[in-house]
Amino acid sequence: MVGVFNNGDGLLSYEQALGLIESAARPIKQMQTVALDHCLKRVTATPLKAGFDLPRFNNSAVDGYGVIVDDLKACSAENAVILSLAGEVAAGGEAQGNDIAQGQCVRILTGAPVPDTVEAIVMKEYTQVMPDGKISLMASARIGENIRMQGEEMETGSVVLQAGTRINPPIVGLIATLGLSHLDVVRQPKIAIISTGDELKEPGEPIADHQIFNSNSWALQAAFNGLGFTDVTRHHVPDDRQAVTDLFKDLLQDCDLIVSAGGVSVGEYDYVKDVCESLGVETVFWRTAIKPGKPVYFGRFASINNPHSLFFGLPGNPVSALVTFDLFIKPALSIMSGAQPRARSRTLKARLARSLKKKAGRLDFVRAIGSRDDEDGLHAMPTSGQDSHMLTGLAKADLLIHFAREAEFAAEGDVVDVHGLDWFA
Ligand code: AMP
Ligand code: MG
Repeated sequence: MVGVFNNGDGLLSYEQALGLIESAARPIKQMQTVALDHCLKRVTATPLKAGFDLPRFNNSAVDGYGVIVDDLKACSAENAVILSLAGEVAAGGEAQGNDIAQGQCVRILTGAPVPDTVEAIVMKEYTQVMPDGKISLMASARIGENIRMQGEEMETGSVVLQAGTRINPPIVGLIATLGLSHLDVVRQPKIAIISTGDELKEPGEPIADHQIFNSNSWALQAAFNGLGFTDVTRHHVPDDRQAVTDLFKDLLQDCDLIVSAGGVSVGEYDYVKDVCESLGVETVFWRTAIKPGKPVYFGRFASINNPHSLFFGLPGNPVSALVTFDLFIKPALSIMSGAQPRARSRTLKARLARSLKKKAGRLDFVRAIGSRDDEDGLHAMPTSGQDSHMLTGLAKADLLIHFAREAEFAAEGDVVDVHGLDWFA
């Protein structure tokens, strides 16, 4: 299907466009080493093996007293047993020198190593210190009770994480538990964002009445950052064919992913597609039957580091740019990241909280706010401000309703497909 693009009628469907993106995107093959405090959301490049047993040594799960089980055979709340105290082991202390004989116990704190002669730990809550310093115990114990056994979670050499695991906070903890300060992760894609347009000024700059501030570069950078992609540069180019050519030529050299915003429609100054093609980018598609985002352009090219680099020409309207980021770039990034694919369906069902109207022909992604009720589940209330230049509507939304391509009306209470908008995962 590569090389398909459409003009006018017969626009590619959303599903076709997504399918073309998913078959063009490839996991990045190189890896890099990162420090532990930079590994969140990254993807492991190699399997991670345990260098030692977990737990590392037998240790206590509670604050209490280490005992020999036989000593407490007949022990209960009504029938306390008194043992003499042989010593104490705290977390960070050594078990050695704290062994016990029959008739003795040892005070032991959570996380402390358990002396070899201790068979179980009785929780402090079932004990009492007597005036003479001996310990009264009011519960029996099973062998191994309240002892976390060496290697019970994981043995030396076993695989803790497969390659392709996306690192979440507990995994950061696990890597630290294994004593690793650095690890090998899949190289991040090198990403360039380009805003096109003579009307744009950067936030903080002086602005004339006929100009607007560039929001796309910032919003798209934030969208990448929200997913953990930080190798991102921002560029601005005026509506000038030569300037667009010069910038694209430069970025096509070494980027894995280029995302432009604006200049991709059918206007006099919409150079993105033409310039891409003149520089050897292979057009996969241009224009799809969706709203917002009809003019989206998608191409592929080879850069120095990546034979499967991707170019997305997003529309310039701020809502269109971000919605097409969510629809198309997010799935491409998930493949490029090298993470094992997760089996999950993107769409859910929801009940419309008010009716919708449109013309047939394009799948409309309606910005909506979701709520739940006990009776019939998820409800989707379309936000005010649905035009594609109105970021306020998208800013409030946590759902996109899929208002079917050929539909013209949906009534309040109708069940529709929706998907969750999550800028952070
Ligand atoms: P275009 O796709 O270039 O025709 O732009 C469509 C609309 O989006 C126009 O109203 C532009 O002014 C606006 N636009 C384009 N780029 C940006 C940007 N980076 N930030 C904010 N608005 C933009
Ligand atoms: Mg423009």
